[in-house]
Amino acid sequence: MLDVKEAKLALRDTDPEIFALIGEEERYQQDSIRLIPSENYVSQAVLEASGSVLTNKYSEGYPGKRYYEGQLYIDQLETLVQDRAKALFGVEHANVQPYSGSPANLATYDALLEPGDKIMGMSLPHGGHLTHGWSVNFSARFYTAVQYVVDETTHLIDYDKVRDLAKKERPRIIVAGATAYPRQFDFATLGEIAREVDAYFLADIAHIAGLIVAGVHPDPAPHADVITTTTHKTLRGPRGAMILCKEEHAKAIDRAVFPALQGGPHNHTTAAIGVALKEAATDEFRAYGRQIVRNAKALAAELLERGFMLVSGGTDNHLVLIDLTDKGVTGKKAAKALDRAGIVTNYNTVPYDPRKPFSPSGIRIGTPSVTSRGMGEDEMRRIAAWMDEVVASPDDEDVTKRVAAEAKDLCADFPAPGIPAS
Ligand SMILES: *Cc1c(COP(=O)(O)O)cnc(C)c1O
Repeated sequence: MLDVKEAKLALRDTDPEIFALIGEEERYQQDSIRLIPSENYVSQAVLEASGSVLTNKYSEGYPGKRYYEGQLYIDQLETLVQDRAKALFGVEHANVQPYSGSPANLATYDALLEPGDKIMGMSLPHGGHLTHGWSVNFSARFYTAVQYVVDETTHLIDYDKVRDLAKKERPRIIVAGATAYPRQFDFATLGEIAREVDAYFLADIAHIAGLIVAGVHPDPAPHADVITTTTHKTLRGPRGAMILCKEEHAKAIDRAVFPALQGGPHNHTTAAIGVALKEAATDEFRAYGRQIVRNAKALAAELLERGFMLVSGGTDNHLVLIDLTDKGVTGKKAAKALDRAGIVTNYNTVPYDPRKPFSPSGIRIGTPSVTSRGMGEDEMRRIAAWMDEVVASPDDEDVTKRVAAEAKDLCADFPAPGIPAS
């Protein structure tokens, strides 16, 4: 049997190129301040489960109903992970097989809708996800999509307007969830609206699953017919997804995932999801979730203090959307300068953005990764000060170089989970 170190030597000997690239990425993840709000650092335990021999096994079907033999351990594994998901999110049924968040949403539509039925979701440039009915996505090509937007001045969802639109459009399903909405979703009201128009309600909690577990975001479970979530964002597991639902939808959801949409489940991912769910069921994780929000609020407060314009004026969750319009620099230019300075963000549209999606007015930042390293409010204020400097002189390589060195020093004090010391 190999120990972990020997396994790594095997990779080095077999494929030095891939080994070297993984090594470089490890250094990059250790030495930079990663602020992309959909990213995180998984634990060493999650990495080990994910890199296990479970990748060798085919197991189309579900526990007790497989199309391949040899499922003694796989059945126990998947059942255990389902049970952990149900307990953690307080739901009746969990499907842990979706390959990622987008296929989880597709499976949900396939389970509940007929092709051409109407989906009502949040518009992508207002914070929604591609799979909520954006024009270039399957969700708008195979279904009929209508989109709700945020208010032009408050940047908040206006629930009365959502209700009016739902009454006018009579969608078959209402989708709530976002990739760039810095405030909380009122799942109770959205559930009510869905019932008023006889629509299903899908809560897509991909970004905020970890916050919900930690009790710092309202829980959709009492209000939603179906909940989809990725497992790799605030939940801090491997790349994957889950569909959580009431028992009445269990059969339809399971059939939609397999055999309608997918083949064999990725058992190594299922195992790593299970580890992440176990980690998420601890007081330590709840403290982590609370600190994510505290850190985002500290980052937002310091940016406001330094004259940055923030969409909706701040944050209640893990992310901050900065509108750079009055700084005279585009989101793309700022994001690229920040990356050179060791601060990794992404450029992003802001609501009612007059610029094009490939070069929008904003950047999106978030605190799940830095919080996983143990950084707190003091570090957030330092990061905001560096961002201020870089955004003020994005072409000044002296500034970006100095900030990169200072950022790397800070990172050295906060070792990233799952990355060996160099
Ligand atoms: C990330 C995300 C998804 C898609 O997840 P992938 O794993 O990238 O396919 C879906 N919905 C929301 C709200 C997301 O944030």
